[in-house]
Amino acid sequence: MALIKENLVRIREKVFETCMKTGRNPEEVKLVAVTKTLPPEVIEEAHNYGIDIVGENKVQEMVDKLEYLKNLSLEWHFIGHLQTNKVKYLVDRVELIHSVDRLKLAKEINQEWAKKDKQINVLIQANISGEASKFGINEEETMSLVKDISGLCNINITGLMTMAPYTETPEEVRHVFSGLRLLAERIRQENIPGVKMQELSMGMTNDYEVAVEEGATLIRIGSGIFGERHYR
Ligand SMILES: *Cc1c(COP(=O)(O)O)cnc(C)c1O
Repeated sequence: MALIKENLVRIREKVFETCMKTGRNPEEVKLVAVTKTLPPEVIEEAHNYGIDIVGENKVQEMVDKLEYLKNLSLEWHFIGHLQTNKVKYLVDRVELIHSVDRLKLAKEINQEWAKKDKQINVLIQANISGEASKFGINEEETMSLVKDISGLCNINITGLMTMAPYTETPEEVRHVFSGLRLLAERIRQENIPGVKMQELSMGMTNDYEVAVEEGATLIRIGSGIFGERHYR
């Protein structure tokens, strides 16, 4: 795992260069290390190299690792598909949920955080592929979901998240990232009380440079840091 350090150096350099090229402040771009499938020891190592935000996509897996690593000052983000019956396990554990895509889920989140009289920051996950898809919500659905969720007192919407289709040629998915940025701008113009559009969670190992060019503030990188996963 000695490669982790080198990979991180390379990614941070790329982010820095991309920001310089596009006139962005590199501090606006936070790296979420996607640690799904990896043992806690590896997360500990990454933490030694400056990783302070980790992203997980399975609730039970995250809870187990967090228990093992509770003495490290890490910020945990949930980035995967979330079932309503698992929401309760995230309370007091996560700082940000990237993947809110339906009102029923938002209501459940709101209810669980209300029990603790706390607020949770969430991102709305939108599907910006431009083609009809069975998965995810399109731009209009995202707009109305944001409006519906904005009424829930224990949830703060702080931005949007998207996943681009996998491609060998990241240029091909630039429109997905610019589409998310434009959608966030449209939502911002609506001035919906309690809704901020400060985060754009977009860009993974294959396409993060293009995503940063298009305004990403959270890039979610797994295999680019830790090497190829053999599953999921
Ligand atoms: C796995 C995963 C990533 C990271 O993917 P890599 O290609 O390994 O960088 C990012 N976001 C989500 C939602 C994921 O599930």
